[in-house]
Amino acid sequence: MKLVVLKFGGTSIANVSLIKKIASKVKKEVNKDYKVIVVVSAMAGVTNNLIDLVKNTSTSPPYSEYDVVLSSGEQVTSALLAIALDNLGIKARSWLGWQVPIMSDFSYGKAVIEEIKTDQVFEFLKKNQVAIISGFQGVTKENRITTLGRGGSDTSAVAIAAAFSAERCDIYTDVDGVYTTDPRIVKSAKKLDKITYEEMLELASQGAKVLQTRSVALAMKYNVILRVLSSFEDLPGTSIIKEERNMEKSEIIGIAHSLNEAKITLSGVPDKPGQAAEIFGALAKYSINVDMIVQSSSINHEATDITFTIPETDLIIAERTIKEIQNKIGFKKFITDTNVVKISVVGNAMKTQSGIAKTMFETLANNQINIHVISTSEIKISVLISSDYYEFAMRSLHTAFSLDA
Ligand code: ASP
Ligand code: MG
Repeated sequence: MKLVVLKFGGTSIANVSLIKKIASKVKKEVNKDYKVIVVVSAMAGVTNNLIDLVKNTSTSPPYSEYDVVLSSGEQVTSALLAIALDNLGIKARSWLGWQVPIMSDFSYGKAVIEEIKTDQVFEFLKKNQVAIISGFQGVTKENRITTLGRGGSDTSAVAIAAAFSAERCDIYTDVDGVYTTDPRIVKSAKKLDKITYEEMLELASQGAKVLQTRSVALAMKYNVILRVLSSFEDLPGTSIIKEERNMEKSEIIGIAHSLNEAKITLSGVPDKPGQAAEIFGALAKYSINVDMIVQSSSINHEATDITFTIPETDLIIAERTIKEIQNKIGFKKFITDTNVVKISVVGNAMKTQSGIAKTMFETLANNQINIHVISTSEIKISVLISSDYYEFAMRSLHTAFSLDA
């Protein structure tokens, strides 16, 4: 079966006239003799409103019911698109997550897909043209509805493309592709024709919000051919692909930034074994994701400072946790700073080229920008700097790495 998956994000289907436009886009694929699975998000803003409804009802809602409310946005859009396609004479129907079914684990609000049962949708597609599957939704073995985390319909689309062995998975959104950096901040940002899974994974996890990070990891695992395209303009978009040999000498591909950062410094931590395990173990208990870490060993082996970053959204609970362990560990004090931004330079070039860190640090130094924390991976260097200068830093780095259009 010649099959493609098309995914439309919230801004692409924000109202009925847009949904009708999308229906015509889907029709074009049908006219090329493709069977089409469409994956839809909720209309833009709807999921946020649903979250508010729950919050206004209770501060401690049962998570299972929270997911029933949250998943409802995608129910509306899948059926509206089916209606719009019916209007164009196309044989289509909506499929809710539980009807497919898309089986997930029990972690409500951030459920993980375990299996997609493809039989019924395949049967349907043999005699019909389009199956519209609600994104973001799963169902547990006990028949309870789950959701896959914010931005989760990207993950739905990629998982569906893998399960149905689709020829490709097109992610339609309100930007026309993946850029070297955020074009709202750096006017000279360029659209990339292609990017490797690895690079996209780093960009997504370092704050570029085009795709949910999980969806990129999934695409990489199952070799799903992925494209990011504009819903509003007929442009080529960005292809996300496997690394090619000749890409090795490719340049730095992009610069990402993340505003959701908080820096915590514990000072006067006794310099003895087990302290870091104690501190980060306590944070892990609350699923707080620690990102950058610096610790220097003290000269006299008495006390040291430990600095690390966490998502700013987890700060309140992190502060509470740290206070709880202060006596046990015996550090002197801790300070927090939310006036920080993480900037990351990403590119496969780093595997084989030297001097990238030098260029990065020199550029920041020449602009009098102080670096608080540094971390690296095989294809990424991140620095934490004051949020006062982050836009300036991004522009300078974009120029320094010859990314300007
Ligand atoms: N509607 C959900 C959200 O806003 C899922 C998605 O759009 O991907 O997070
Ligand atoms: Mg999205």
